[in-house]
This record gives sequence, C-alpha cells and structure tokens, in this order.
Amino acid sequence: MNVFHTADPMRAWSEAQRAAGKTIGFTPTMGALHAGHESLMRAAAAQNDVSVLSIYVNPTQFAPHEDFNQYPRTLDADSALAARVGVNAIYAPADAAMYPPGYATYVDVERITQRLCGGSRPHFFRGVATVVAKLFNAVRPHRAYFGQKDAQQAAVIRRMTRDLDLGIEIVEMPIVREPDGLAMSSRNKYLSPGERQRALCLSRGLALARDLLNAGERDPQTIIDTVRNAMNGVDIDYIELVDAEAIVPLDRVRGTVLLAVAARVGETRLIDNIKFTAPDDEE
Ligand code: AMP
Repeated sequence: MNVFHTADPMRAWSEAQRAAGKTIGFTPTMGALHAGHESLMRAAAAQNDVSVLSIYVNPTQFAPHEDFNQYPRTLDADSALAARVGVNAIYAPADAAMYPPGYATYVDVERITQRLCGGSRPHFFRGVATVVAKLFNAVRPHRAYFGQKDAQQAAVIRRMTRDLDLGIEIVEMPIVREPDGLAMSSRNKYLSPGERQRALCLSRGLALARDLLNAGERDPQTIIDTVRNAMNGVDIDYIELVDAEAIVPLDRVRGTVLLAVAARVGETRLIDNIKFTAPDDEE
C-alpha cells in the first residue's frame, strides 16, 4: 500500500490513476479507525476502481480547550485495517505540510454551520471545510464517503462541494452502532465503564423519538421533550430537530428532518442523530 505525507506525491499518484481511466473513492478520517470508518472504506473500495484513506487529526477544527492532544493516534492498527479492506493509498500529512508558516486561507460555509455543533463549537466547521477542501485537492477523488454520524458535517461538505464546483460525488453512509445501540466513535475510548453505560441514553432517546415519528407525531417540541427526558443522566449540549439540508428548526416535521443530540458524559463529548422522512402524501 502507498503512504503519502505531502500533497504533491499524493496528487501525482491520483493523477496517474485518473490517466489510466480509474475512478477514485476517498474516505477522510482522523484515524483511530473502527467499524464505522470501515463501512466507509468498504463502500469506497466497492464503488470505485481504487480507494484512498486519509488520516489526519486536523488542529484547525479543535478549540484550545478541546482534546486535540489526547485524541487517539493508532497509525499501525489503522494501516493494517486499511490494507484488509482494500485501501490502495493512505494520505497521512504532517501538520507542517498542511499548515506551513504563513498559512492564511480558510473556507467558511455560511448559515448551515450556525446551529447544532456549529453553535457549541464555533471554530469547528471552518476547520472541517478548510481541511476537507485541501484533502480533496490532494486526493482528487471522484467520490468521497462521509458518515451520517456527523450529519451536519456531511451537509456542510455537500454545500461546499456544490458551491465551489468541486465536481465530487458526496456519499453519506448510515451510522454504525455497537450491539447495544451506542454510535461508534473514536472518542468512545475515553469512556469509563460507568460512563459507557450512561452514554446509552443518547441512542435510547433517539430510538424513542423514532417510534414517535413512525407513529405519526409531527410536533418537534413533543419529540425533543421525549429525548430530553430519556437523557437525564448526562449533561446535554443540544437536542435539535432541523431540516436535514438547511439545518434550520421547523415548526412541524416535514420532508427529511435531522434529530441531532450532543452531550457530555464525564469529560467526553458525544453526538448522535437520526434522520426521518415524512411520507410524500403528508402536508
Ligand atoms: P472521524 O475520524 O471521526 O473524523 O470520522 C471520519 C468519518 O467517519 C466521518 O465521515 C464520520 O462521519 C464517519 N464515522 C465516524 N463514526 C461513524 C459511525 N459510527 N458510523 C458511520 N460513520 C462514522
């Protein structure tokens, strides 16, 4: 497997693939890979001729008080998993290569970054959009794979890709969960056994909300209150029901909605969500 640490050799490899008529599938990650990442890499390998994985813990999407330094870094295990699932190249740039002295350019996606994670982490989506734009320019993929786990992030990347005419197909893959419902996350490694147990109230609250939606409940506040009651053992950051693309609140469930939650369990911030599409004949 090829491993590249700077943009020029990465792009040269991708250009050679393109010149040979091959399609490139790309999975951007921060490493510490788990079955959620694996589902993205498998889709990228299955739907394209070659696939690229990036591993980069991006400093510009962390605030000074956040967990950039503690974030798990497991490059050897990640490379072994990537090889098993058919990844052809890994792009693992160093900070000095990504943000050299004098670096001054950022991508700001407006409006849809204001709420949910953008509300509690104001720096976050500017860092994400900037790094993904840079990764796209190095990897030059035909398709890029993102998880619904970070549904607002996927919406931001779709918006940026359309707005900047990047010509890349953005594929969003379902959330992969542990058998007990906890959404897989690299940050689950931080949880003590007791916290791990308490963290289940996120997915349980969302499952109750899904039952309500399936039963025809269309009042956002009723749905949000149900989730809030289920999440009484953790420190809630937000519970919001929004239009899944515009990321704005709705006075009634219509179209495709995103019900997203974030909470702190001990020191660890966790997020989870469900999407629901109201039947066409409603309204
Ligand atoms: P991260 O390494 O956490 O930045 O995640 C890299 C990509 O993997 C993002 O597109 C995430 O949405 C996706 N991802 C993370 N966890 C999961 C999961 N449990 N199921 C599906 N995709 C996931």
